Amino acid sequence: MLTVDALTKTYKTGDKALKAVAFTVPKGQVVGLIGPSGAGKSTLIRCINRLVEPTSGRVLLNDLDITALPGSGLRRARRRIGMIFQEYALVERLTVMENVLSGRLGYVGFWSSFLRRFPAEDIESAFRLLDRVGLMEHADKRADALSGGQRQRVGIARALAQDPELLLIDEPTASLDPKTSRQIMRLIVEICDERGLPAIINIHDVLLAQQFTQRIIGLRAGEVVFDGPPAALDEDV
Ligand code: ADP
Ligand code: ADP
Repeated sequence: MLTVDALTKTYKTGDKALKAVAFTVPKGQVVGLIGPSGAGKSTLIRCINRLVEPTSGRVLLNDLDITALPGSGLRRARRRIGMIFQEYALVERLTVMENVLSGRLGYVGFWSSFLRRFPAEDIESAFRLLDRVGLMEHADKRADALSGGQRQRVGIARALAQDPELLLIDEPTASLDPKTSRQIMRLIVEICDERGLPAIINIHDVLLAQQFTQRIIGLRAGEVVFDGPPAALDEDV
């Protein structure tokens, strides 16, 4: 479970990007995070994994208080958080399998992963993930030989390879056509359900969020202005 408690971020510029944001996400739940540009969505995502330092408040991931960790504990904490990006952030000239294996070291510093030998169980588990996302027969292809939808599937498998306790997902479908977007959303929601993984998806497309997520959180000017089931969402949020 993820707990965000009275989370506040005031940038040095004076911008109050988050104002006492609070919510919890139980295991297996996928939350669609929506709101106009400048609402604080990316600040929220970045405060959860502490790419941005919150000004006050707490973020708890299961037993771990992420906001209380010293810098030295952050790397380990980030390994518990899988990230999926709009532009996939794959290493283009490496294979699909190598990209997935890079997730074993977390998404930061993945270059160093190829200096290590991966144990057989890591490779078996990477094959299982590729099978789950429908890319088994593409394991040896270079990432840059794949379509956008296939690349996002690699991004999903890579995030899962680190065995995360939370997924933070930034605009996963913004570079994809509508049909592929729906397939990717469905895959994410199914996998989170299977694994009991909580997830937050920063998503521009409100209809897509309503169609696939179980819960919507609407941010505006740093405050939660909606938190509930997709069907209850007003047009003007
Ligand atoms: P922090 O308070 O987190 O240290 P800074 O104010 O030092 O953040 O800014 C960090 C980076 O974000 C800088 O590179 C800065 O140019 C950029 N930045 C500043 N203001 C904005 C803004 N309004 N929106 C997006 N990025 C900004
Ligand atoms: P969203 O992701 O919803 O578009 P952001 O989190 O990027 O919103 O921005 C929220 C607010 O914080 C905006 O007013 C933005 O200008 C400001 N902001 C974002 N990043 C920075 C930064 N690094 N430094 C100063 N202000 C920032």
